[in-house]
Amino acid sequence: MPPFPSLEKALKHYYGYDSFRPGQRQIVEEALQNRDLLIVMPTGGGKSLCFQLPALLKPGLTVVVSPLISLMQDQVEALRDNGIGATFLNSSLNQWQVRHREEAILNNKVKLLYVAPERLVSERFLPFIDLVKHQIGLNGFAIDEAHCVSEWGHDFRPEYRQLARLRQRYPDISIMALTATATERVRQDIMTQLRLANPQVHVASFNRHNLYYEVLPKSKNTYTEILLRIRQEKGSGIIYCLSRKTVDELTFKLQKNEINALPYHAGLSDEERASNQTRFIRDDVQIMVATVAFGMGINKPDVRFVMHYDLPRNLEGYYQEAGRAGRDGESAKCTLFYSYGDVKKVEWSIEQRTDAKEQQIARHQLRKVLDYAEGTECRRTIQLSYFGEFFAGSCGNCDNCCSPKNTEDWSTEAMKFLSCVARCKERYGMNYIIEVLRGSKNQKVLQNKHDELSTYGIGKDRTAEQWKMLGRSLLHQGLLDQTTDGYAVLKLNPLSWEVMRRQRSVHLVVTAFKKKASEETN
Ligand code: ADP
Ligand code: ZN
Repeated sequence: MPPFPSLEKALKHYYGYDSFRPGQRQIVEEALQNRDLLIVMPTGGGKSLCFQLPALLKPGLTVVVSPLISLMQDQVEALRDNGIGATFLNSSLNQWQVRHREEAILNNKVKLLYVAPERLVSERFLPFIDLVKHQIGLNGFAIDEAHCVSEWGHDFRPEYRQLARLRQRYPDISIMALTATATERVRQDIMTQLRLANPQVHVASFNRHNLYYEVLPKSKNTYTEILLRIRQEKGSGIIYCLSRKTVDELTFKLQKNEINALPYHAGLSDEERASNQTRFIRDDVQIMVATVAFGMGINKPDVRFVMHYDLPRNLEGYYQEAGRAGRDGESAKCTLFYSYGDVKKVEWSIEQRTDAKEQQIARHQLRKVLDYAEGTECRRTIQLSYFGEFFAGSCGNCDNCCSPKNTEDWSTEAMKFLSCVARCKERYGMNYIIEVLRGSKNQKVLQNKHDELSTYGIGKDRTAEQWKMLGRSLLHQGLLDQTTDGYAVLKLNPLSWEVMRRQRSVHLVVTAFKKKASEETN
């Protein structure tokens, strides 16, 4: 290893770059001090360098855990192109190739070894790592896509859980966990599950300036709208659907309309999936219609638009999927088609689950998606706040900032709603409050003697859906709170009282209501 007078010189030597991206230099320094680290950066932020450069500067081998064979191959290829000793061990190799690579490692010809988690922690493989540690030295573990360890993430992989064994077996070897996942909950989970010891945490901004975000109502005309947009846009695009069936149907329709589109979902053969993906990446085909199976490891920089034909299951997943647009930094568009019918479908599927914890997670996630889809604030503000990042709004690059919606004054209704929450002593969820407002004869309401409240039946003039819409809007405007432990009990906050004292008005988007009313009649 040539000695370097500065990290910049080392960067130039190995990668040819002149300067570090934000955060990279400090991370490299800390990694050189053998600290445990958690690195959170959006896709394209430059995470790879954070573990690769320290690996090159330290004696011994760095073991990189990566969930997908395709990801490993891409990274190893890129490193080897730069003349860096890197290799991978996975199920695509035969016994002879494996032995050959293991020898190269023990002969100190390799700085970075990529492996899948299940191989790394297997009883057959760990003795080899012991041997490496003994003979040439082990200088660290890098866990890529570390969110796979968390059920709260969008890509849970049970085999990642076993990585906890690394800390047990090698207490003195540092671990760097890397992820593009942004939620606080997942971060905490990563640190606990991987048993990180007092880790230094680095979190980069998740704002993707070049992406235009918009939410459009989903209706009978949505297909025509999509067709029109594809014809206007010209560049590559991805359309995400919830089910394989919708993917197949939509692809078929598009093909009939002479759009060059192919499907991608877990129901296709491995060959067909690989071939469709390659054709998309090579610009042989313009549109990929896909389920969320089309995701991690797909690196196409010039995707110009991502549409969500169905409601995504969680906001994090939405952010990641939409984020596959515009990786080259050029402008790109992210469109979500939203209907209340979709919400009901998701709610129904949540009800079908038998695991209480899973149900709780799914409900929490759905609420966040609705906050985003129904919000009237800057879409970036809503998204980034979900990731614990403050964004002041007025981004100038989302539908809510560029064309504020027509709103209606619903202050009186809001007063009724919030008073009802107060009368019910802040002990109930949204559906119950609406029952009381609409004068329901529900047994629970009668038992609780809530038919005797002054707010009982004062909301008969609005439909349950309209009240729900108002309730949710109050929540994401911060005019009402909700407990998040699974019961979603509504709680008043100081702003709620301002609304009730008429010190603050409440406005709702009109188009959403018009749509709601028509949906209910048909
Ligand atoms: P991530 O893993 O966070 O998605 P990558 O590590 O793949 O991101 O980096 C994204 C792109 O940025 C890559 O093409 C990489 O070569 C480039 N890159 C990373 N760091 C730098 C840097 N300091 N200077 C210039 N380009 C960089
Ligand atoms: Zn905005």
